[in-house]
Amino acid sequence: MEQPLDQKEVLSNTITPKDSVLIPALLSIDEEIDSTKQYVYLTFDDGPYVGSKKINQIIQEENVKATVFLVGFNAYTKDLNQYVEDYKQNSNLEIANHTFSHARNHYTKYYSDPAAVLKDIQKNESVLKLENRLVRLPGRNVWRTANRKKDDFDKQSKVTADLIADNQYMIYGWDYEWLRSHAKAPLSPPKSIYDGIITRLANDSTFEKNHLVILMHDDMFDKDEDAQKLRELIGMLKENKKIVLQVISKYPSKLS
Ligand SMILES: [Zn+2]
Repeated sequence: MEQPLDQKEVLSNTITPKDSVLIPALLSIDEEIDSTKQYVYLTFDDGPYVGSKKINQIIQEENVKATVFLVGFNAYTKDLNQYVEDYKQNSNLEIANHTFSHARNHYTKYYSDPAAVLKDIQKNESVLKLENRLVRLPGRNVWRTANRKKDDFDKQSKVTADLIADNQYMIYGWDYEWLRSHAKAPLSPPKSIYDGIITRLANDSTFEKNHLVILMHDDMFDKDEDAQKLRELIGMLKENKKIVLQVISKYPSKLS
């Protein structure tokens, strides 16, 4: 549906900190939600990696919506920078912020300094030229949407998330993870992940009823055989007419 110009500007999320226009934008997003559907948000973290090139191609060819939470520190070669640019050219994809440093994988130390985390988010925004305020915290499944919040075990990441939300960022955790393969186990079959999605939606075991955010990582799909598994999962989700694949900025943020 065509929206008035002022709402379009708000929906692009190019708002300045403390800008009160955030609220009407969120209300207008909720009007687009069909209560007879179930929404799945495909999210890919930590890119760019070799797998990013394959994810980009699959999302384009399958013509579905997805979100990538990028780490500026990982874009350290010409090729990796090109994958970021390719993501930006893909109109099915939303680019979001997973911090510049990814805590260098030292999470306890990282979250002991909330102001530094905010700076790391702003640095990523600047380096990758990000145009929205959609964030996922590294190593912590924490949520801050307009009206709801959820924390995990770490008190310091709670303090950090509150500071970031006060600076008008939205923070998205996840409901379900397709785990990386490791030495002892290959990537789980796509059918088991599909079944996991359907079960969680049916059992209402997601942060928001009828909405499921699935976490994956770009480097899971570095190998062609694993990228094929992603394509198969997307194929199964597309076959299910009750399911809508959506970008994370459309996640419900009702004020109630
Ligand atoms: Zn991550």
